[in-house]
Amino acid sequence: MKIPINIVTGQLKEEEIIVGIDLGTTNSLVAYINKSDQKPLAIADSAGDAIVPSIIYFDENHQPVVGKQAHEHLIDHPERTIYSVKRLLGKSYKDIETHESHFAYKIIDDNSEGLVKIEAGGIYYSPIELSAMILKELKERASHFLRSDIKKAVVTVPAYFNDSQRQATRNAGKLAGLEVLRIVNEPTAASLAYGLGLKADELQTIAVYDLGGGTFDISILNIENGIFEVLSTNGDTYLGGDDFDRAIVEFWKSKYQIADGNKQQIQELRLAAERAKIALSSSTSSEQKLSLGDNIYNLNLSLAEFQNLIFPIVTKTMDCCKLAMKDSGLTLADIKHVVLVGGSTRTPFVKEQVTQFFNQAQIHDQINPDEVVALGAAIQADVLAGNRRDLLLIDVTPLSLGIETLGGLMDTIIPRNTKVPAAAAREYTTSKDGQTHIKISVYQGERDMVVENRKLGEFVLSGIPAMPAGLPKIEIKFQLNADGILKVSAKELRSGIEQTVEVKPQYGLTDSEVEKMLLDSFTHAQADINLRLLVESQTEAQQLLYTTEKFLKNHADKLNQEEEKQTQDAIDKLKLALQSNDRQVVISATEFLNEVTKPFAERLMDIAIAEAMKGKKI
Ligand code: ADP
Ligand code: MG
Repeated sequence: MKIPINIVTGQLKEEEIIVGIDLGTTNSLVAYINKSDQKPLAIADSAGDAIVPSIIYFDENHQPVVGKQAHEHLIDHPERTIYSVKRLLGKSYKDIETHESHFAYKIIDDNSEGLVKIEAGGIYYSPIELSAMILKELKERASHFLRSDIKKAVVTVPAYFNDSQRQATRNAGKLAGLEVLRIVNEPTAASLAYGLGLKADELQTIAVYDLGGGTFDISILNIENGIFEVLSTNGDTYLGGDDFDRAIVEFWKSKYQIADGNKQQIQELRLAAERAKIALSSSTSSEQKLSLGDNIYNLNLSLAEFQNLIFPIVTKTMDCCKLAMKDSGLTLADIKHVVLVGGSTRTPFVKEQVTQFFNQAQIHDQINPDEVVALGAAIQADVLAGNRRDLLLIDVTPLSLGIETLGGLMDTIIPRNTKVPAAAAREYTTSKDGQTHIKISVYQGERDMVVENRKLGEFVLSGIPAMPAGLPKIEIKFQLNADGILKVSAKELRSGIEQTVEVKPQYGLTDSEVEKMLLDSFTHAQADINLRLLVESQTEAQQLLYTTEKFLKNHADKLNQEEEKQTQDAIDKLKLALQSNDRQVVISATEFLNEVTKPFAERLMDIAIAEAMKGKKI
């Protein structure tokens, strides 16, 4: 036995436990590594349940009740019982507008900061505050069970979560009194729970199929030397076990002629459907007794009927698998392991379909599919606690990151699919004389024009000493940390003035939007290149006009009349060319002006002007 003693204070040093948390859309769990056998364990309540429904009920005194006890209030107080908060994290009202019917509670669009708020019992809550309430419940459960004040955690998020959603998750942890040491992708955590990637020298290609309550994610991962790389992700943020329940409800409604009821009756019917579905995971028929209003129903469902109902939903998930495979650039024969995650993979028909699709792979379904992510998070937490040194976790960024340069062009600094953590820097300069500040606008996306991409944020680097255009050397540095959060800094190297911002986007992108942005970039690739080339030629022309006109103004005495007239003609010609939107016309007029001014430009142009011709301008 070892007794750790703090040699400074003489007190017993308490070994710090870092827990792993799966903050799910439907259910959340907290897990830790059991010291006696080194195995991850999900922490259960006194009744033996490890699953904490991600539901918050606000009682008459506005006190939050989280988990199982909140679940029943879905029926009697739907307007004060909040579920699916994870869908709203880092989202604006615009993002969820088309899905508003999904939520039985009130979602507010106050427009003040773009992010949604939820109203319950006359009080407004942000999704971060609500997520924090769930995290606090998990923290308290773990602290109670482990008899130690738990202060640190690893929290999992879907692989497609963007910066804003990851940041929101981190902030929710902070609000709950937890230091979030690492945000880990759910598929990565699930693979870890199966021990995949734990050996230093193994090379694995894994598909993680995660069908939860309301979301479906498929991720293709590559593990090499303990490094996890997300090759591709696909899925549907509004597809899951809830859709199975809804399909059953519709089936019963027409079979038993059940009229549209009030919100409470709809919920009761939905819960009965879920019970039937769960029963059918281990039997071939189910009967649910339910009284609705004055009627008592015996609601029957056979396994065959159920499979018919869910067939189109499961097929949709398989279509996503095909897309993910295509994006990964791999063939099915490359996939050696498939990990099943999410409560809905307990439905035998789902398991069958996945097994059939990845028929050459080994299927991993031995671990509870609703616990597996939390267990993997606990393993990662153990790594961070310094108990294992055999693991490193790396993911890739799904979209390129860059800044806007002159003419509205996107200049990529960290390209898509770069392994994170990543850092890259590039030098820029000013486009106007005496420019003392520049605006740095940060974008995410694959298109050549920033307007087609997504703006993450902007800031101004001010206090640049006045210098001729092109003279300042402005270094823009991007640092993308392991959680996928971007830090942007700008430094004017001659004067040393510096400014750093952490990019906290206004609102998030759904995975389908990310997918759309990528698809758009492919379909518009040629048009984008042409437009980029045109804008570049125009920008170059404008810069040349600017410097030449400035030169004429300041140094007119150094030219003879002939030279001055020639130059003025070439300027006019270029100005005219600029109106044509024809790249070739712009280029030849630019070349012409260059030719005309070259002899005396070489003679007289000061360094600043020569320098102004070089480097990209912001
Ligand atoms: P999430 O990751 O979205 O938080 P979970 O992975 O916990 O969700 O999955 C919840 C879903 O799993 C719910 O739709 C629930 O009805 C379903 N589920 C739970 N147990 C079973 C079961 N035995 N058979 C089929 N579906 C199940
Ligand atoms: Mg989940």
